[in-house]
Amino acid sequence: MNDSVKRAAELVRSYDGRQLRVMEVCGTHTHENFRLGIRGMLPDRIRLISGPGCPVCVTPVGYIDQAMFLARERGCTVCTFGDLIRVPGTDGSLATARAEGAKVQMVYSPIDAEDYAGTHPDEQVVFLSVGFETTTPASCIAVRKARERGMTNFSLLTANKTMDNAYRALKGSADAFLYPGHVSTMTGTAIYRELLAEGVSGVVAGFTAPELVCALAVIVKMSEKGEPFFVNCYPRVVTDEGSPSARRIVSETMEPADSEWRGLGVIEGSGLKLRDEFSDFDARIKYDVPQIQGRANPGCRCGDVLQGKINPSDCPLFGRVCTPEHPVGACMVSSEGACSAFFKYDSSR
Ligand code: SF4
Repeated sequence: MNDSVKRAAELVRSYDGRQLRVMEVCGTHTHENFRLGIRGMLPDRIRLISGPGCPVCVTPVGYIDQAMFLARERGCTVCTFGDLIRVPGTDGSLATARAEGAKVQMVYSPIDAEDYAGTHPDEQVVFLSVGFETTTPASCIAVRKARERGMTNFSLLTANKTMDNAYRALKGSADAFLYPGHVSTMTGTAIYRELLAEGVSGVVAGFTAPELVCALAVIVKMSEKGEPFFVNCYPRVVTDEGSPSARRIVSETMEPADSEWRGLGVIEGSGLKLRDEFSDFDARIKYDVPQIQGRANPGCRCGDVLQGKINPSDCPLFGRVCTPEHPVGACMVSSEGACSAFFKYDSSR
């Protein structure tokens, strides 16, 4: 640890000002703050709270139900990242559907799903396109590639989300946001400057121990001034302009739409759907998928966890009924979920 990081750590450790609530927007930050021992070194007056930055966690139950409808009722092959397979829908999970004989295929990227469709022309393949600014460009590339190849057996069930309006929906939930490093590589920092003008404070943080400690020290130092602030504490990776080429491919393929977030409800303009010229690749249109109002387990408090209202360990099901082996809610399934982080690292549970 070099001297400046030591000083930053000391500044954080010795903080005794007003209570600070810092929202870890990104699930990876939650896990790294635990894993690297940073959470353990914080004084009581700095409270880390989890936010909505895990794509699997914020995907609503109704979306899982739609995926199961495609697998069960339409006979589609549903391709998805592994975590989504175990997220409970209203009536079981995709793992349940697979055990019943439905075709559910785990993939590592949308391009893998498009490749799968190319090598299985007799199957109707639907990729579950979830995620934020980091993963959406790959879904767009997959669709464009499928169109170039003249494929008619590949489509997306979209639930892609953008973070800007989610930050606005969460205004007041925290004193400062720990903005996500990965998403920021795509968006750049303009959005944070807009939020700053609206009175929202935050810092972009990296993922190493020195980067996280320094980001927290900046929050401590800037908060003392009592003014809203924004600092990019991850400049080695995050630039002001982000990735214009990734944003362009997204804007040429998808357009903004209202989107439902688990726990936060429908947030205007916080999602993306395929543009009309790509409607042949929109699974909702292609397979006439109904709107489904999903029902989560009534005991699950994922919604409150995702808004930073409670810690996972405050959920009555945590660690007793709900564990990584038998997850009741999405936040315990996902490797980025706050409940799984608390289960893995919080020895006080
Ligand atoms: S511990 Fe389980 S049931 Fe409770 S909020 Fe987390 S995922 Fe839901």
